[in-house]
Parts: sequence; C-alpha cells; structure tokens
Amino acid sequence: MNKPSDLIRNGARLIGSAGRITVFTGAGISVESGIPPFRGTGGLWEKYDQRVLDIDYFHRSPEKAWPVIKEIFFDFMGSAQPNPAHLLLAEMEDFGLLATIITQNIDGLHQKAGNTRVYEFHGTTSRFICTECRVPVPTANLLLSDSPPRCGSCGGLLKPDFIFFGEAIPEEALSGSLEETALSDLFLVIGTTGEVMPAGMIPFEAKSNGARIIEINPEPSKFTPQITDIFLQGKASEILAELGQLLHFC
Ligand code: NAD
Repeated sequence: MNKPSDLIRNGARLIGSAGRITVFTGAGISVESGIPPFRGTGGLWEKYDQRVLDIDYFHRSPEKAWPVIKEIFFDFMGSAQPNPAHLLLAEMEDFGLLATIITQNIDGLHQKAGNTRVYEFHGTTSRFICTECRVPVPTANLLLSDSPPRCGSCGGLLKPDFIFFGEAIPEEALSGSLEETALSDLFLVIGTTGEVMPAGMIPFEAKSNGARIIEINPEPSKFTPQITDIFLQGKASEILAELGQLLHFC
C-alpha cells in the first residue's frame, strides 16, 4: 500500500503527462464554501423534504414548494463564495492543465472562481425560465419574495433553471459533456458519490473511452472500487493544493 504522499506524487505525474483533462465535480467541492451536500450526515435532505424538487409537485403546489426552494437555493446558496478548491481549479485552467469542468452543481461557483469552460449538467441557480413562454430571466433581475416569481412577459410561473426530479438533462450540457468525455484522456473526479444518474455515468463513459480516473474525496464513492485508478483521500482544497505545489500551478 502506497503512502498518501506517494499517491499524490503519482496523481501529479499522471496529470502532468495527460493530453486533455476534464474535471467532474459534485456537491463535495462546495462543502468548504458552506453549502452542505444533499446526502449523508448534515446533508440537505436531513432537514428538507425532497418533494419540493419534484417537478409535478412544483407545478401542482408552487406556493408550498417555493419558500423552501428559495431558502435552500437562493437565500443560502446564493450568498456562497468560491473556496480554495474552486480557485485552484481556476488556476489549473490558467496554467493550461484543465480543458473543461463538468459539474453537477448548480451554484455557479466554478464560473465565479474564474473557470471559463463549464458544463452545468443539472442547470443553474443564476437563471429562471418561464414555464409558459420559456423566456429566460437572470436571477439578478428578480426580486425574490415569499411568493413564486412570475414572468414579466406573460405572467406565467417562473421556475429556477436547474433540473427538478423528473426533468431531462439540459441538451447542450449533455451533448457538450459527452463530446468532452470522448476527447479526454484523464478525468479528475472531485466530491461526488456518483449516485445521481445519469450524471454518474459520465466517469464510467470516460473510463470506457480509455481515460485514467483520479478521484478526490474524503470517502470512497461508487466509482472508487470500480473505475478509479488513483484515489486521493481528503478534502478537495487540501489535495488540490498539494497537487498544485507538485505541478507548479499555484
Ligand atoms: P452528494 O451529496 O451525493 O455527495 C457529496 C460528496 O462530497 C460525498 O462523496 C462526500 O464524501 C464528498 N465530500 C464532502 N466534503 C468534501 C470535501 N471537502 N472535498 C471533497 N469531497 C467532499 O453529491 P453529488 O454526488 O454531487 O450529488 C448530489 C446532487 O445534488 C448533485 O446532482 C447536485 O446537482 C446537487 N447538489 C448541488 C449542490 C451545489 O450546487 N453546491 C449542493 C447540494 C446538492
């Protein structure tokens, strides 16, 4: 069994010699920004009823679903800032070591940190979309109150432009992620259990295209025993800082 430092050195060597790197992130990378993940101890679903994110429930009872959605995704998540892990990934891109991020997160923190090529697999909190006329509205243009926001053009119900249970993956994010997966020879998987489908299929797809998989997580995930080549156990910010020092991107 290698010592952790040997594993990190091996990880850095793989990253340094890769042709094209995609980073695949989950809720874990934003934990250090104060946003809890959904699952596990302290996860959001310990406190809130998952039903608020069921698309049929939202359409049936928007008045009941909205205050909870607002509290979780706008009052709370809206004020979060990028943490050192997000900033290190932005430095990796500046340094030419990172081609693209595919994120399951909807918090916009990769873009806020400075990454420019980000596929938001589950959509974003930065926009709403009208459920009637499909007009998109930037969240910054809305005054969010205790009632669900309405479309300025047609009066229809506005829905946050991230996917609810029962909705399809945004077309552009899906096709872009699959293209990127076909091109990459190294996947860096950070802070995800891999339980959410179809997002969880992406690293498996990368592996079957021949990519090497490096994973960063304090706990093993669904990927670890099946496809991970190097498992770097720990917090995203700490492991990325060690990699950054070895690879000189920070
Ligand atoms: P998850 O909630 O299923 O799992 C979180 C993972 O992060 C776990 O494997 C955990 O061990 C790991 N983790 C915890 N702290 C970490 C740290 N400091 N560094 C690295 N890893 C850490 O998350 P998921 O697999 O991304 O799936 C949850 C779904 O919920 C996603 O689809 C996502 O869209 C959504 N979600 C998003 C946010 C967000 O936008 N920030 C927050 C919660 C949930």
